Formats: sequence, C-alpha cells, structure tokens
Amino acid sequence: MKKNTDIINSIKTLDREQIKQILLFKDEKQEELFAAARKIRNEGKFKDNVELRSVIELSNICAQNCKYCSIGKNGKKTYILSKETVLSRIKMLADLGRRTFLLQSGENRNQKFIDDISFCCSKAIEIYPDIKIILCMGNLSKEQYKQLKESGASRYILKFETSNEQHHKFTRPTDTIQNRLECIQNLIDIGFKVGSGNIVGLPEQTLDNLIDDLILINKLNLSMVSATKFIPNEFSEFKDYPMGDVNITLNFLSVLRILKPDCLIPSTTSLSTGNKDGQLNGLLAGCNTVTIHDGTPKEFEKNFSIYSEKRFSPAEEYCREIIKKANLIPQKYLL
Ligand code: SF4
Repeated sequence: MKKNTDIINSIKTLDREQIKQILLFKDEKQEELFAAARKIRNEGKFKDNVELRSVIELSNICAQNCKYCSIGKNGKKTYILSKETVLSRIKMLADLGRRTFLLQSGENRNQKFIDDISFCCSKAIEIYPDIKIILCMGNLSKEQYKQLKESGASRYILKFETSNEQHHKFTRPTDTIQNRLECIQNLIDIGFKVGSGNIVGLPEQTLDNLIDDLILINKLNLSMVSATKFIPNEFSEFKDYPMGDVNITLNFLSVLRILKPDCLIPSTTSLSTGNKDGQLNGLLAGCNTVTIHDGTPKEFEKNFSIYSEKRFSPAEEYCREIIKKANLIPQKYLL
C-alpha cells in the first residue's frame, strides 16, 4: 500500500486486513496517514477550526464499575457539586470568554441529581444564550435524557468504549454493549447531537476488536467521534496492564477522520500521558477539539479520576499553544 489514495480507499471500504496494517504505521507511513487525515479535515465542514471546550466534573458518584476506572474504588470521598457551584463555575468560565461547556459526571439516575443538572442547564442558557452545553452523564432513562434535552443541553457524549460483546463484559462488567447502544440510539432519537467512541489499548483488546469499533462508529449517526488511549489507573483493577500504544491510538484517530470528515474529534489528555506531545500529535493526526481542564473546583479534581490521578490537566494557554503549533484556529464552538 503505497499511495495516499490506496490508504484512503482501504479505510473508506473498511478493508479489515489493510486497516490492521494502517493501525501499525510508524515514521514515514504514519506521516503520510496523518497528512491524508489533515487534508480531509481541512476540506471538511469545520475546515481548520478547533473547538475549545471547558469541562466541569459534576460528581464522582457512579452506578457502574468499569475495570479501567478508579471512581468509587480508592477510598476517595464522593461529591456532587451544588447547583450554585455549577452555575458559578459556568459564570467564571463564561467571563473568560468560554462558550462550550462539557458537564461530566459518573452515572447517577437519582432524579434530584437530574433535576439539579437540568436546572443548571436552563439557568446557564438563560444567562448566556450563546453557550453550548454538552453532557456526559452515562446511561440514563429515556425520560431523563428528554428532560436534559428540554433544559437546553444540545449534545451528549456516551462512549461505547469497546464494541465486542465479550470484551465489553470483561472491561465493563456492570453494563452490556446492547444496553449502551440502546442509550446511544435513544439520545439520537431525542435529537441530541451525539458523540461516541472507544478506548484504544484496553487489556485483551485485539486489532480485530478495533476494526469492529470502527465499523460500529461508522454505522452510528454521530456528530462527535473519539478514541482515547488506555491509561492503567493506579487504583483500578487494570492497574498492572501496560498503557495503550500512542501510535496505534493516533493512527486510529486518523482513520476515524478519514471515515468521518465532518465530525468533531477530540485530541484528549490521554494522548499526553507518557507522551509529551501527544495532544499536539492528535491535532496533527486530524482531530479538531481540545478541552481545557479548569472548570472543576480544585478541591474536587483529585476525586474525579476515571483514567488516572496522575492525569494531565491542560490550561487554556497550553491548548491555544498546541492549536497554533498545529496551524489551526481556536473557536468558541463548532456545533
Ligand atoms: S468509567 Fe465512567 S461509567 Fe465507568 S465506572 Fe468510571 S465513571 Fe463510571
């Protein structure tokens, strides 16, 4: 496989064997793959623009027990930010000029929690009509999703993490892929712009599993797609497994870009854990979203440890710097 057109054709036709080779690209071949993905991104709907988001981690209470996550496992205190705190954090960020807010929490179907978050969404939009709210709150009932949508949130991220039924059971024993997909479909049916994706490098994951993930992502009607690199969280059941391979993750992101020219794809902090330029390389591989991690009050940050307590929390300056280095343009929102 020499020419860029061959690479793009193999990806677009979901040629399993060729994509397996592409995922293992390094050096010159990887550069060519990244260049092809960048070209497709820059010719797509969002061109050379990058969405800058701000995340607020609402609560670390979670009904699930994913083996790669340490939430609820490391003796850390549980917390739920009060409505007042959420609104004051949104105000603080909005005053800095931010307009896209990712409100993230563990999975908590408690109706008071949903009512409080709905209140925060509608209040925040009343005060700042030009903001965009993205929710990432796990599997909820269809009625709860509807309530959140009606409160003004326009997007929802629900990653399936791994599409293979057995592998899903192994990594996320308290959920099923069928249930996860049903929730994703409910979100799409309700009218959310939906994001989903996987984790690359999970224990016992095969290249075939990754191709299955790609096929699933390609099938779903998504506005945002993603792939994070597996980080062995020091307090999780997967703590002794090796970190995911950054090159395979970056190649996967480029393949995603070629399949989905008009989707938002985040370059996540997972890429920078153990690889200094990981997030910059994510942008060079075709991503177009970066999240600033300064929305959660400092005293709660340590308690929200999905991937690792040693996580990298980029400030605005760093995000703007890598966007500039990648020759891209920061935007308050793109969707
Ligand atoms: S990864 Fe998310 S859903 Fe799974 S246990 Fe952690 S917070 Fe809960």
